[in-house]
Amino acid sequence: MANDRYSRQTRFLQFGEEGQERLTLSTAVIVGCGALGTAQAALLVRAGVGRVRLIDRDYVEASNLQRQILYTEADAAEGLPKAEAARRHLVAANSEITVEAVISDLNPRDAEDLLEGAQVILDGTDNFETRYLINDYAVRENIPWIYGAAVGSYGIAMPVLPGETACFRCVYPEPPTGAQPTCETAGVLGPLTSLIGSVQAMEAIKILAGRSESVRRKILRADLWAGPIREIAMPERDPDCPTCGRREFPWLAGAYRAPVSLCGRNAVQIHERRRPLDLNAMAARLHGLGEIRANEFALRFVDGEFEITFFADGRAIVKGTTDIGIARSVYSRYVGN
Ligand SMILES: [Zn+2]
Repeated sequence: MANDRYSRQTRFLQFGEEGQERLTLSTAVIVGCGALGTAQAALLVRAGVGRVRLIDRDYVEASNLQRQILYTEADAAEGLPKAEAARRHLVAANSEITVEAVISDLNPRDAEDLLEGAQVILDGTDNFETRYLINDYAVRENIPWIYGAAVGSYGIAMPVLPGETACFRCVYPEPPTGAQPTCETAGVLGPLTSLIGSVQAMEAIKILAGRSESVRRKILRADLWAGPIREIAMPERDPDCPTCGRREFPWLAGAYRAPVSLCGRNAVQIHERRRPLDLNAMAARLHGLGEIRANEFALRFVDGEFEITFFADGRAIVKGTTDIGIARSVYSRYVGN
């Protein structure tokens, strides 16, 4: 039997041989290969999704290993790009499928190329800006995507089925303002990220297997430490939603990408004018994570690798790199998205 490998899921009647055949011919794109993305990728690849594209611009670090289930100490020691390290482990688990590693962030310029061919998009990102970008593309192209997020012990997952369910912007009309908790400032627990990633992978598998009618059209909210795990109804589609109602796609057009510019040697300036910062609150959040020096105009923070100077208007200068992508990720690590 050619596909003894998949016998345990084809025996599941609602999935069956037909579901498997469809899965084998399908393409999934995973945006972000952190904790959520590695959980999703491991499950999709083992389930036999024919083509899985992984998009991530970061490198494996020791602090990833606690929850990013594909990576090893050797990956961190080598400083391998996450997308490539993940690809190597995934093809070792299933050599029958195609895994594409894209070492890049998802940005408006490349989004069309990087997401092309996706039959479902899985959110493994850690920021709202990229989620709005995914939502723009997915709604415009009528491709389902699965939102997921996790911080501390709390996580959330929600499918977006364009033309049917509310889209991400119906649910979140605007990005959150001010600093948000991040995995760096508030921590995050591995069982939580694997739960959320698993739920996202399950819904993606249903879609790719041609079983979209079984997708849970609900928002899952889970606190795995002391809070509840519950599903709540998705809101109705907003007929006046700029994205799925009026079909405006500003993130895809690049209109909302925060401008970034090199400023002097080995430093990048990030402008986030839409997000003023409370520097006192910022200092409290960063307490214990590095060296802090603050005055009424700016807060300087040294985390060992980078020196970041935050300004009350939301601007920051990241010293220690000339790479705009790295500077952006350092910024979002501490300010949130
Ligand atoms: Zn909408």
